[in-house]
Amino acid sequence: MSAPVTNGVVKGWCPDAWRPMMAGDGLLVRVRPPLGRLTRTHILGLCEASARFGNGQLDTTTRANLQIRGVREDSWRPLIDALLDLGLIDPDPTLEGRANILVAPEWRAGDATHLIAEELRARLSELPSLPGKVGFAIDAGVAPTLRDAPADFRIERAATGQLILRADGRHRGTPLVRGTETDHVIALAHWFGESGGAASGRMARHDASLPEWAAATTLPAVSAQRLKVGEHPFGIALGLPFGRVAATALIRLVDGETAVEAIRLTPWHIVICEADTPLASLPEADFIADPSSPLLRADACVGAPACPQATIETRTLARRLAPYVAGSLHVSGCGKGCARAAPAAVTLTGREGRYDLAFDARAGASPSSAGLDAAQILAHFGAA
Ligand code: SF4
Repeated sequence: MSAPVTNGVVKGWCPDAWRPMMAGDGLLVRVRPPLGRLTRTHILGLCEASARFGNGQLDTTTRANLQIRGVREDSWRPLIDALLDLGLIDPDPTLEGRANILVAPEWRAGDATHLIAEELRARLSELPSLPGKVGFAIDAGVAPTLRDAPADFRIERAATGQLILRADGRHRGTPLVRGTETDHVIALAHWFGESGGAASGRMARHDASLPEWAAATTLPAVSAQRLKVGEHPFGIALGLPFGRVAATALIRLVDGETAVEAIRLTPWHIVICEADTPLASLPEADFIADPSSPLLRADACVGAPACPQATIETRTLARRLAPYVAGSLHVSGCGKGCARAAPAAVTLTGREGRYDLAFDARAGASPSSAGLDAAQILAHFGAA
């Protein structure tokens, strides 16, 4: 069986394991681990799969998914078999395509986030067919944590303590009776389709009035503090530069003298390591444990040559520049801005082999200086 490949320029399409995307460096295969949690067995299996069938790296995404890149077409099916053996993808491609569920990463066994996410996963067959990028956020802790992460239908906690279902783009949500959360999520997904949501593509762009039963009356609670790298009640939270980690480094993290039992993926290029005792040692070049590291403020997509839309290199420049930029830095291979949707203090966008420089801007925004090369940019920021 060959891969049903699509390239990355199809609008509104979102790759997964069964529908990989052809990139400049080969196929990109996306894995959506259940509840965003990987056991040591999963991690070792994924690392082996990446080394055998991909480029030996694992990339995290803003939806807390994992990507294996650089997969050859004839390696795709063996990779799929390995992921099936690990239980990391659904054998049914339709259900796998619907498993676009972002789970608040600090969930605990038996809490509302865990139970609702499990129920939604068990009821994927009840969801309608939705545009590829439409997804769900189950964020039912004491305060929302996923507001800056992409999702269209969100279960969140209101200031009153009650759970609400909030359609993305609406400030308020619908209060929910306990035990009916998943019913409401599924019903709102059906309403989205029936009210023409496919044409809008995303809930935030869909301005149809919500149905009467989903009246948006209740504000969510104030967001929780953003997860930081360093000590964590589960063990330790570690940053991954640009969301990427080498399989060899991940193996050292979980398979040596360390006590890491599992890791949880987040949408912020941070993984939470579950460990009962402090880690004896860390492969520091691969993980960020210092909350003041400038790399935590830097975003950069894969750029050229891995992405066919890019005409410039991104991450080497971002690494060199980050210590010289006071705020956030975004180096984007093109105006699409895959690595960061929000504006950054300094944004460099690739165009025809050069960089456009903009401030407090999104990728592709009107630049203050256009057509620069890397040396000019480094000199501009005193990094030459
Ligand atoms: S932003 Fe980067 S990864 Fe996204 S399409 Fe452009 S070059 Fe490719």
